[in-house]
Amino acid sequence: MRRQFRSMGKLAFKNKRRAPINALWRGNLGMSEIRTLIVDDSSVMRKIVERALRQAGLDDGLVVYEAGSGAEALEVLKGAQVDMILSDINMPVMDGLEFLRQLKAQNLAPGVPVIMITTESSEEHVKQAIQCGAVGYIRKPFTAEQVKERVLPLLTAA
Ligand SMILES: [Mg+2]
Repeated sequence: MRRQFRSMGKLAFKNKRRAPINALWRGNLGMSEIRTLIVDDSSVMRKIVERALRQAGLDDGLVVYEAGSGAEALEVLKGAQVDMILSDINMPVMDGLEFLRQLKAQNLAPGVPVIMITTESSEEHVKQAIQCGAVGYIRKPFTAEQVKERVLPLLTAA
């Protein structure tokens, strides 16, 4: 079931699915829902990230918000609370670094962990992203196992 957000771009929607019980991470994290904002200009990549999160054990309770640029992500965050943000670096309109700066400037999603999705070519920006407030990164292409090892602990620590 997909619900379109009225005031947002066509890429921003809430995607909530009921899934088989997998309370392992939910239980560990003490959260009934894990609301995740996935920001990437590639809709295919957003789906890959979502699938990796589900395969990493977050299936039950995972609520996914999507945005195709930093600007769209800011709009989503004005209307929704999330527990975690996964963001691409290279995006048109507003890239991942400017998105991080705007998060701070607009005091949106304070304390919410932001994990960057990087490529080899955006590796040089990772250090900058960490300085701008990102708590970690995963490099494309990644496996569900890597997501489990590198992303979920950041969620626990937040
Ligand atoms: Mg991109």
